[in-house]
Amino acid sequence: MKKKIVTDVDVKGKRVLMRVDFNVPLDGSTITDDRRIAQALPTIKSVVDRGGRLILMSHLGRPKSGPEPKFSLKPCAEHLSKLLGKPVTFTSDCIGVEAEQAVAGMKDGDVVLLENLRFHKEEEKNDPNFAKQLAKLGDVYVNDAFGTAHREHASTFGAAQAMQGKPRVIGFLIQKELKFLGEAVSTPARPFVAIMGGAKVSDKIAVIENLLGKADKLLIGGAMAYTFFLSQGKKVGRSLVEKDKVNLAKELLAKHGAKIVLPVDTVISNKMTDDAETSIVEGDIPDDMEGFDIGPKTQALYAAEIAKSKTVIWNGPMGVFEKKPFAAGTKAVALAVADATAKNGAITIIGGGDSAAAVEQMGLSEKVTHVSTGGGASLEFLESGHFSTLDILD
Ligand code: AMP
Repeated sequence: MKKKIVTDVDVKGKRVLMRVDFNVPLDGSTITDDRRIAQALPTIKSVVDRGGRLILMSHLGRPKSGPEPKFSLKPCAEHLSKLLGKPVTFTSDCIGVEAEQAVAGMKDGDVVLLENLRFHKEEEKNDPNFAKQLAKLGDVYVNDAFGTAHREHASTFGAAQAMQGKPRVIGFLIQKELKFLGEAVSTPARPFVAIMGGAKVSDKIAVIENLLGKADKLLIGGAMAYTFFLSQGKKVGRSLVEKDKVNLAKELLAKHGAKIVLPVDTVISNKMTDDAETSIVEGDIPDDMEGFDIGPKTQALYAAEIAKSKTVIWNGPMGVFEKKPFAAGTKAVALAVADATAKNGAITIIGGGDSAAAVEQMGLSEKVTHVSTGGGASLEFLESGHFSTLDILD
């Protein structure tokens, strides 16, 4: 998917309407983690430094009905102003007279941040009138919010549609996501190892099916392994399973058995707490026990597969990594992925969400090739290979 990027447009004197992801965690009005703002800075600076008039739009949190002060983007305007070393004008609504006047009064290099898009329910409904009101604020459209690029909302889709005929491009963050996720699914260096974990098969089944057509090996961890165990006639005790997916797991094993690698041992316990007592089983899980992580033999087996790889895509933890007794599997996989990057020159991609959190927790984010900024978005991209919101851009 070759797309024009922000630097392909002469933005001098133009009103550049840019969708960013400033959905940062807040404690009151204090931003507790500013990475999303910091990550958007290269695209923001590229417009400002070239004399564009930058109008930023974002969502924050999940406001229920209308404006809620705790979801205001005002703290982001103040923080961005500090990072840029210049004023950032904040408008108390993303559409309407105040926003239009603020934009009309801009000079080259000025920055305006519009209030939370989701204070209008029309945003998520992709309401055409709302989209048009956003669209009229810009001469150029830029999308740099990968985490919401899989959703056809007014700011990600309708506004871009309404700006047909004007330049409509992506920013550097989305460019990077498309490069790594796109190349991994279309022209991966081989062996290509996919690692899937997490709670449910059902959330990831479409991705699993798509990746099975492309990857050389698929390593399965997390609770989803137990649905596969059930389909093999094994006992899983009280482990989390999806009974309605057992047949599907059976079909996948019948069709792609040579590619699918399942755990050979499991960390079990009777409770999922920080002080839980654990043991390891290699076969059936006893009736009164639950599986919470992959065991040491599986960790070694998965690490060996990862060490041979040239491309790795990982989504979903290997166990309940939030609890200490069940974190070792996820840790072992994270270390193996970092090692493959350094020692084998493998392209290693962490598909956002919980696996990104785990890699960050272990201080390994810089030791992998790419940590996706979108959990759900990266999964959908791995499944379909494209987004309609980006297809319509230049
Ligand atoms: P997901 O959002 O599907 O990637 O799932 C992530 C969640 O799966 C994490 O909160 C993990 O604690 C949970 N998880 C992973 N392995 C297990 C397991 N064996 N049993 C229960 N939950 C699990």
